Amino acid sequence: MKTAAIYARISKDRDGTENGVRRQVDECLRWAKAHDVTVAETYVDNDISATNGKRRPEYERMCADIKQRRRDGVIAWHLDRLHRNPIELEQFIILIESTGADVRTVTGGDYDLSTSDGRAMARVVGAFARKESEDKSRRIKSQKRQRANDGKRVSGGRRAYGYNAEHTQLQPEEAAIILEAARRALAGESIYSICVDLNERDVPSASGGQWSGHVLKRILCSGAVSGQVEHLGEMVSMGSWPAILSPTQTTQLRRKLLNRPRGASRAPRRYPLAGVVFCGRCGAKMVGKRRESGARTYFCAKGVTGVGCNKTTTVAELFETLIADAVLYRLDTPDLQRKLISAAAEDDQADALQAEIDRSQAELDELAQAYGERKIPLREWLMARTPIEERQSEASRRMGQLIGSSALENYVGNAEHLRAQWTDLAPDRQRTIISALVDHVTVNPAVKGRTRFDPSRFEVTWRI
Ligand SMILES: [Zn+2]
Repeated sequence: MKTAAIYARISKDRDGTENGVRRQVDECLRWAKAHDVTVAETYVDNDISATNGKRRPEYERMCADIKQRRRDGVIAWHLDRLHRNPIELEQFIILIESTGADVRTVTGGDYDLSTSDGRAMARVVGAFARKESEDKSRRIKSQKRQRANDGKRVSGGRRAYGYNAEHTQLQPEEAAIILEAARRALAGESIYSICVDLNERDVPSASGGQWSGHVLKRILCSGAVSGQVEHLGEMVSMGSWPAILSPTQTTQLRRKLLNRPRGASRAPRRYPLAGVVFCGRCGAKMVGKRRESGARTYFCAKGVTGVGCNKTTTVAELFETLIADAVLYRLDTPDLQRKLISAAAEDDQADALQAEIDRSQAELDELAQAYGERKIPLREWLMARTPIEERQSEASRRMGQLIGSSALENYVGNAEHLRAQWTDLAPDRQRTIISALVDHVTVNPAVKGRTRFDPSRFEVTWRI
């Protein structure tokens, strides 16, 4: 070798001083001197872990130099410094075969990759290095599992939104945002719409920038915000830090926001009344439709199902304003206040449901523990689970129905405030508030000859 390369790589996948790049390079240099090899260049990568497949710019540069015959050999401390996985080794073998370059290692002897024996040897050594690296990765995972079981937070190092850097105290302003977003999501508002609102209010996200759907969703669905320790998507214990949400809220949020098929997330509704508007002529649900002029309308379309009369239509803008006015007016009436007082009775019901959900969870946990300690056999565990799970999911379902009315809680008796910001609210948010109050709106056929907007065509049926 006349223009040899020395390659060294720092990683954490071995213990002790053999890691040190300086030592790797020194030993390669000593070896080169002893073997009368001229070293042309030293390539060093800082690569933290062997398993994560990060790029190695210096390794790539060295391979390019070998390919261009500017280097005629490689000296490394050990073969596992050169290759992190079998694919890299195979690619390297192709390179060596095509260029005839030599490979020498200080500790592992020489691998003549141009012979099948040398290649077989390199593959075996590579397989062992790979195994060691995987063992390490498993060790880290089991340490994390252990920490999780101990009620400690398994952190990725970054500060979690809503908490201080040590994850021991709440950040009150951020915690309030989490609580608000959770309530709105549970009331049926889309994650997208909540993000738009937070961004419009200039609420900084965890990273200080704009909110995005997946970030907000990840926060809302994390076990950590309800004080739970999560490991591989499973709640394993209660943590030692303050909770922002209740574990039940986390369960409900996860049920609502996760498990949705990919691509199902949609743009916010452009028609806040869609779903509650019915045709007075035929009774079909009316849908949002744009006229050729671009004007939005609600239309009784004869859709694929064949229902709909294809006749009744109304412009959307004025109609929506009218219904919004009616909703805002109703929010201020004593009649509604009275009804909401009786709705408060439902809060007792909610508490009872919550207790049922928590009790079921405790029973499930107890059973799982009994099975874990081999006090009961698997079959018995599975059989005992079923009725409890059914009870729990029924309670959760009824809870979901109750929660629907919580969309109003911030606005009752505060309609003036809501009126001022109504037009700025996202259609999704408007819709949540409307559908908490309005059961449905009937649009009657237009009176012949009357071309102006006619408020008398609409009938609102209130929910409460
Ligand atoms: Zn119709």
